[in-house]
Amino acid sequence: MSLIHNLGFPRIGARRELKFALEAYWRGDLNEAQLNDKAATLRTLNRERQQDLDLIQVGDFSLYDQVLDMSVTLGNLPTRVLQTEGGELERYFRAARGRAAGDTACQCVHAGEMTKWFDTNYHYIVPEFDRSTRFSLNSDRLVQQVRELGAEDKPVKAVVLGPLTYLSLGKSKDETQPLQLLPELLEVYGELLTELAAEGVEWVQIDEPALVTDLANDWQQAYRQAYQQLASASGIKLLLTTYFGALEDNLALACSLPVAGIHLDAVKAPQEVQVLINHARPDQVISLGVVDGRNIWRTDLEALLDWLEPVSRQLGERLWLAPSCSLLHVPVDLALEQELDAEIRSWLAFAQQKLDELKLIQRALREGRSAVADALLENQVALQSRRASARVRNPQVRAAVAAMEPSLGQRQSPYAERAKLQHARLRLPLYPTTTIGSFPQTDQLRQLRRAVRQGEIDESTYRGAIKQEIERCIEQQEALGLDVLVHGEAERNDMVEYFGQQLDGYTFSRFGWVQSYGSRCVKPPILFGDISRPKAMTVEWTQYAQSLTKKPMKGMLTGPVTILNWSFVRDDQPLEATAYQLALAIRQEVQDLEAAGIDIIQIDEAALREGLPLRKSQWQSYLDWAVEAFRISANGVADSTQIHTHMCYSEFNDILPAIARMDADVITIETSRSDMELLDAFETFSYPNEIGPGVYDIHSPNVPSEASVYALMQRAAERIPAQRLWVNPDCGLKTRQWSEVIPALRNMVAAAHRLRAEAG
Ligand code: GLN
Ligand code: ZN
Repeated sequence: MSLIHNLGFPRIGARRELKFALEAYWRGDLNEAQLNDKAATLRTLNRERQQDLDLIQVGDFSLYDQVLDMSVTLGNLPTRVLQTEGGELERYFRAARGRAAGDTACQCVHAGEMTKWFDTNYHYIVPEFDRSTRFSLNSDRLVQQVRELGAEDKPVKAVVLGPLTYLSLGKSKDETQPLQLLPELLEVYGELLTELAAEGVEWVQIDEPALVTDLANDWQQAYRQAYQQLASASGIKLLLTTYFGALEDNLALACSLPVAGIHLDAVKAPQEVQVLINHARPDQVISLGVVDGRNIWRTDLEALLDWLEPVSRQLGERLWLAPSCSLLHVPVDLALEQELDAEIRSWLAFAQQKLDELKLIQRALREGRSAVADALLENQVALQSRRASARVRNPQVRAAVAAMEPSLGQRQSPYAERAKLQHARLRLPLYPTTTIGSFPQTDQLRQLRRAVRQGEIDESTYRGAIKQEIERCIEQQEALGLDVLVHGEAERNDMVEYFGQQLDGYTFSRFGWVQSYGSRCVKPPILFGDISRPKAMTVEWTQYAQSLTKKPMKGMLTGPVTILNWSFVRDDQPLEATAYQLALAIRQEVQDLEAAGIDIIQIDEAALREGLPLRKSQWQSYLDWAVEAFRISANGVADSTQIHTHMCYSEFNDILPAIARMDADVITIETSRSDMELLDAFETFSYPNEIGPGVYDIHSPNVPSEASVYALMQRAAERIPAQRLWVNPDCGLKTRQWSEVIPALRNMVAAAHRLRAEAG
């Protein structure tokens, strides 16, 4: 009879207890023992929440990040961290975030680099390798968590990041090739498995999500070598665990590895279930991830049982069932969402509810569907209400998308002709200066928003205060001598939520937090239905701002792809269909801004790149619709209206043609941190339109000198004609203080003046 298990539970706690504990510890309000206590309590609570499962997993909890935990287990913290004083926990936090509790400036080190975990919004700490890298086992964390369990009558499964995925996630600081490190790494994995076996651990869930990515031959070979060696190393049973996608060309490889079981993401790769079963050895466990760990929708249990029942008959006790991936990527418990609209709530499942679904499926397989008839009926009723709800399907929106013509994404004239009209109208100097949109979000602004939300002040008082902030922001920009102004985004808490709140088709949870990195959590808005825009979202503020100045005011919007990538999205239609609905809504806003006399409109696509699929073969189809969605949103304007876009990352050399196809008149990008390295790409690919390479890093409190801005722009001018260059910071300024922003922009403007003067 099939077992049910979990790949990982959210560790932040239903009320973000871990976040608050960590921050209290860093502030010095908790000591180490108290922090450890809180963490142990969370682990106990999580075990209670998972008591219906047939295996107990340990090792999925982390104080900060599971990849960093693995680095500790493998004795692979960066040397600069190991050289610092203090205990293990202090070093751990220095590796994670550059400083431990109570560190003075001189004890700080470079934090480890942070990057996205596959195609999720979770960020891990990148392992570092160099020629001095040596591994050595530190099993304390895992052993302690196994011992914490006490006497258990269920098998214990330890969750461990696999050696090849670990190596592939790391970065080499010199010429060392990560694969060169494999032999020594495997020794340590071998020791770890032996120790876990000695602690009574029966299974190790060895996570190798890199198996769903494109693997070069030497890496495929390395998997064979590694698992041969690990299989003979100890008596422990390995569950080779893959998720986030299909195995595709790595399927045969995965099946050839001598492991006791394989986990497949059956939500992302249902087509591989039978192939896997056919390839697997007759003694292997097949674990199927049948409940979606990446979204917040209820599973269609009847539909699932329809295909699962024959599989269950075929496999018998070799079949295990689990969520598709770790539940790290969904909020903890829907039961807290008492304020959510009851109908929408009935369509949702958070981590706790997803485990309940597993339990139900297991019972249905064991005892027949009739044993859980009531629950199945309730599930069907909820799904039916979702399918039929007029809030989900809006015929007008569907008709508008169906009627979209290719011309919708087309500007009237090519860039060169538009540019003439725009330049004649805007009369900007050479090297025009601007900012990316937001100005500092002060405590005062946050308090204001809280006050209006809680009804302490009325709407008109709130709006008056926002207007004052806009006035102040414009005065400052005028005084600085910037050429294209912004209203400052004082009314926005977040660049996606702000629009979600004004669009039909969105709802919001209260406690739907998901870990982004360390103690940082995000609460993605829930996009549940067809998207429409009941009324203008930004026009009033932008128009007010324009009325205060003679300089051009840039209207500021978030683009369809970014809104999509930072939301919980629907699973009942392709992403592309949702993107087009968003695109039409943003397009209306763009046209309303234009009609209100706004000559420059910026549509941010900060998250366009992170939506790229894991497999390169799927990039093109993603980029095709993503670029088209942007073009639909942007291109309904006259030639004389200037469209800007902004992207806050620097690795897009590989998607430059797609970015050029977006055909924005001006693109502002991040370049300062890479010392304009990005611009090298422009030597081989000539970007046709105007570009503002960010001249200083807004993530740092440092004020850039005039000379550094000047030097960066000169480097840019070697590759891109000065007539097509803009001068701007590399992202919005909302996280900075006014006291940092003013001198920084003053230097930036001064550098632009100097460049202008020299260009004559
Ligand atoms: N316009 C936004 C801002 O300035 C852009 C933010 C972003 O790119 N992440 O805040
Ligand atoms: Zn940005």
